[in-house]
Amino acid sequence: MKLDEYKFDGTKKFKINGFDTKAKHLTTDREMVLESSLLNLKKLGIMQDRFYAQGSEAILVILQAMDAGGKDGAIKHVMSGLNPQGVQVSNFKSPSSEELAHDYLWRCIKNLPERGKIGIFNRSYYEDVLVARVHELYKNQNLPSRCKTPKIFDERYEQIANFEKYLWQNGIRVLKFFLNISRDEQKRRFLKRIDEKNKNWKLSDSDVKERQYWDDYMKAFEAAINKTSTPYAPWYVVPADKKWFARFFFSEILVNTLNDINPKYPTVTKEKEKLIVACKEYLTNEDGKKSAAKSKSKSKTKK
Ligand code: ATP
Ligand code: MG
Repeated sequence: MKLDEYKFDGTKKFKINGFDTKAKHLTTDREMVLESSLLNLKKLGIMQDRFYAQGSEAILVILQAMDAGGKDGAIKHVMSGLNPQGVQVSNFKSPSSEELAHDYLWRCIKNLPERGKIGIFNRSYYEDVLVARVHELYKNQNLPSRCKTPKIFDERYEQIANFEKYLWQNGIRVLKFFLNISRDEQKRRFLKRIDEKNKNWKLSDSDVKERQYWDDYMKAFEAAINKTSTPYAPWYVVPADKKWFARFFFSEILVNTLNDINPKYPTVTKEKEKLIVACKEYLTNEDGKKSAAKSKSKSKTKK
């Protein structure tokens, strides 16, 4: 499926107004997409094993969305195909007082994946140019006056782009996903959280109230994506009104990325080959040796 038009690597501008949230022209065939998703999960599992064994590179997946955008579901979906030992998921909520006492990248840097692993950030340092921009949070933070200017966001876009370049140059691939839902779809999902009793716990009144800032959020997403789209840390703007399509899209990009990395099991050295042969010999003869030792000790006790 042609997903290039949803990829932003700095070669074209992203215009959020009217951007596809439904993927209607891509497919309406849910069954076919579900099948492809399952196949992707299988491929992910196979390639992740090699990726882990190779251990030379890490993947950092960043998920951003408006509330009820489907981040949790997308993570759950790809996790079902991955070995949990090779993945770490980090959630970034409203910062604690300890986190606020540090620079905004600090808590994210602490959670970067090691080589061989896939790190998934459920929200990230992008919150510091999204919610922080919509509500001008810097005004109430304990910062020196030189930092408390509206320029803070342009500075952060630049810092983020530099940081992601640093990650790329140090063996960490960054993939960024904006699960793009329409305002109507968000309303539908909130109402579902109200109508279905076992979904009530998911509803937060502050999320519902945040809808009044929808247009400001859209502007903040558009700016953040345009300022930080690069070939080494591209953004994918995922049409996310249909959960099954968004999950397929997410798994497809992960599979494509692993294909691109083309991880290989480490080659076995001559010395290791000799050790393997020796181990095989030892294991095959183990039972014979044991019974010989046993009969020796039996004959000793008889005497
Ligand atoms: P759900 O989709 O289930 O609602 P969630 O990711 O929204 O999950 P919540 O605990 O509801 O999780 O919300 C986390 C909140 O923390 C969001 O409103 C987000 O904007 C906020 N947040 C995250 N990082 C920051 C930050 N750096 N500054 C201010 N707020 C932040
Ligand atoms: Mg929330």
